[in-house]
Amino acid sequence: MALMTGEAYIESIRKLNMQVYMFGKKVEDPVDDPILRPSLNSVRMTYDLAQKPEYQDLMTAVSGLTGERVNRFTHIHQSAEDLVKKVKMQRLLGQQTAACFQRCVGMDAFNAVYSTTYEIDKKHGTHYFENFRKFAAYVQENDLTVDGAMTDPKGDRSKAPHEQADPDLFLHIVERREDGIVVRGAKAHQTGVLNSHEVIVMPTQSMRAEDADYAVSFAVPTDTPGITMIIGRQSCDTRKREGGELDVGNSEFGGVEALTIFEDVFVPNERIFMCGEYEFAGMLVERFAGYHRQSYGGCKVGVGDVLIGAAAVAADYNGAAGASHIKDKLIEMTHLNETLYACGIACSAEGHPTESGNYLIDLLLANVCKQNVTRFPYEIARLAEDIAGGLVVTAPSEADLRDPKVGPYVEKYFRAAPGVSTEDRLRILRLIENLTLGTAAVGYRTESMHGAGSPQAQRIMIARQGNLPMKKRLAKQIAHIKD
Ligand code: SF4
Ligand code: FE
Repeated sequence: MALMTGEAYIESIRKLNMQVYMFGKKVEDPVDDPILRPSLNSVRMTYDLAQKPEYQDLMTAVSGLTGERVNRFTHIHQSAEDLVKKVKMQRLLGQQTAACFQRCVGMDAFNAVYSTTYEIDKKHGTHYFENFRKFAAYVQENDLTVDGAMTDPKGDRSKAPHEQADPDLFLHIVERREDGIVVRGAKAHQTGVLNSHEVIVMPTQSMRAEDADYAVSFAVPTDTPGITMIIGRQSCDTRKREGGELDVGNSEFGGVEALTIFEDVFVPNERIFMCGEYEFAGMLVERFAGYHRQSYGGCKVGVGDVLIGAAAVAADYNGAAGASHIKDKLIEMTHLNETLYACGIACSAEGHPTESGNYLIDLLLANVCKQNVTRFPYEIARLAEDIAGGLVVTAPSEADLRDPKVGPYVEKYFRAAPGVSTEDRLRILRLIENLTLGTAAVGYRTESMHGAGSPQAQRIMIARQGNLPMKKRLAKQIAHIKD
C-alpha cells in the first residue's frame, strides 16, 4: 500500500490512542471534534490529490529507497527538479485548502535527517543512517504522515540547555539503556502533530559538549506512552463550535499546533538518529530550517493566491473593481506573492547533492525566501483589508442574517453591486477575515514571522552565506585597488 486514500488516512488516525487536551479537558475523539476536524481535512488533501492522475507528477515520486511510487511528502529528494516540484506541490495545496496542510514538516525533517545521519556515521562509525533509511522506507510503504519536531520551549534565552534552571526546558536524554534511551522535555508549536502517525524529534539549536544529552534525534509513534499534546488556541476558534459555517470563513480546512510533552518516553535503539553527537546538532538544524524556509515559498504563496482572489471578488461585490487604485493594489499583491514564489523556485533550482546523495536547497536563497515571507504576507493582508472595507470586522453574524426579524435588515443594508447576494458578499468578507485575523491567520501571518525560525535567524544565515569578502574583492578589482 504505497499510496493511502484520504478516507483510509482519516480512519488510520482514528485508531491512534493519542493524549490530546484542549480547553482543560481531554479530547476523546480528536478526529470528529469540530474545532480540530478542519485541520485533519487539510492533511487529508495531501492524500486525496495524490490519487488524482492530473496531479501525479507533483504529488508523487518514485522512491530512491523502495523503487515504489510514493507520496512526495515522504520522498527523499533525488534532484533539483524534485525540489522545484516540492514547492509547486505546496503552492497547489495552499490554493486548495487556504490553510496549513501540516505534512511538510515531516518531509523537511526526513531530508535533513537523511543527509545528517550519513555524515554522523562517517565520522563516528554509528548506524544512524541505516536506522533512518529503514524508518523512512516504513513511512513510505505505509504512506504515513510525520510531524517534524524541532522547537524546544528554551526557557531563559541567555542560557545554554544545560544551564537552565529547569533541565527539561530543552528535550534531553534522561537514561541510556541497553535497548534504547529515555527522553524528557517538550516541543512547542507542533504543527499537525495530532494529525500525524509518527513524530521525528530533532535538536533545536547548535550544541556544545556540555549539552551532549540534548543533542538527540529519534522517531516514535504519536501515541507512544508519555506523549501529551495541548492544543494551541487560535483567534475565533470557537466559532467552529457554534454551527454557523458562514461565520467561520473557511469551514472545511484549517491548521493546528500543539505543545507536545515527552514525559520519560522510551525510544528503542533502531529509532535513534543522533545520540550525543553534539557537533552535528547545528548541521541538522540548519538543513531542516533551510528546507522549511524553502517550503514557505510554496505554501504561503498558494494561500496568498486565495487571499488575492478573495480581495478581487470583494472589490467586484463592492462595485469597486473598476477603480484604478483597486487594480493597482491587486497588482502589488500579485507582485509580492510571485516574488515569494520566485525565491522558493530559485533556492530549489540551485539545489545540489549532499554527501548522502539527496538534494539540499541553496541555503542563502532559502533564507532570503523566508526573510521575505516575514514581511510580504503582512503587506498582502494589509492590502486585502484595505480593498475589503470595514465590513470585514463589523458584519453581523450568520444567525442575524437568517433571523426572520432582523435578517431582512442585514439583507437590505449590506447589498452592494447589482446581482450579488448579501450572503455571498458576507461569505467573501468572512474568508478574508479568516485569513487575516481568524484561525488561518496563525498560518498566514504569525507563522510567516516565526515559523521555520524568526527573522533574525535568517539574517544570521544571510550574513554567513552572503560571501562579503568575495564582494569586496570584486569592488577592489574594478576600482584598481591592490591589497
Ligand atoms: Fe507546510 Fe506551510 Fe504548514 Fe509549514 S506552514 S507545514 S510549509 S503548509
Ligand atoms: Fe511551519
